[in-house]
Amino acid sequence: MRSLLNKIRSGRNASSQIIIDGVTMPVRFRHNGRARRIILRLSKRGDEVLLTVPTGTSNAKALEFAASQSHWISKHAARREKPVSFEPGNKILLRGEEYMLVHADTRRTPVWISEDDRQLFVSGKPEHAARRITDWLKKQACADLSKAAHSYAEQMGVKFTRLGVRDQQSRWGSCSARGSLSFSWRLIMAPPFVLDYVAAHEVAHLRHMDHSERFWSLVKSHCSNADKAKKWLKANGRDLHNYGH
Ligand SMILES: [Zn+2]
Repeated sequence: MRSLLNKIRSGRNASSQIIIDGVTMPVRFRHNGRARRIILRLSKRGDEVLLTVPTGTSNAKALEFAASQSHWISKHAARREKPVSFEPGNKILLRGEEYMLVHADTRRTPVWISEDDRQLFVSGKPEHAARRITDWLKKQACADLSKAAHSYAEQMGVKFTRLGVRDQQSRWGSCSARGSLSFSWRLIMAPPFVLDYVAAHEVAHLRHMDHSERFWSLVKSHCSNADKAKKWLKANGRDLHNYGH
């Protein structure tokens, strides 16, 4: 495994690049007086190397450290390098299961699935396939989230005013002070217990607008998979952003 370092600039907010297996990745440095050692992380999307640098350690040294960990970076960033587009022939995730995208000539409806052989069919012009699949996934996400949110709202004795899906980069769901719930449509790709937990989490915010102990006990008393779902999102959530580009 070969890695190259270049464009080293000095200063607190210096940025740089590292080349891992022929792919250039941006590197960001963060100086932290309390850090005891150089800490290497990847950004949430997995496309940036983040280096926490202790006082007295140079960026060049931190970059050298990152280069020595190129195997780890390559392993964890690998899936970011090959985005999976919504094109026939590719496999995508739906409710935690892999489905093969297949183009169909018959025009029954724009998109339909065969659960038995795990195929997702899209009809119409090939150049419209990706948009049709995205629209269909958003609709499915909206339906599943709406069902889960209504059920939790009833259980928790709260009401929401609106529910919508978006392509949120940084969070899986949000709840406004006016009682409007918003979710990432990409949750439809996760296993159902994950989508279910995010719905429970946002609905619980209608009662507690914080992450206090009261909030968590409300979530966990209604959603027994909360911890399991949080772990799943931490480990796999980033991968869901890899689809449909
Ligand atoms: Zn929250």
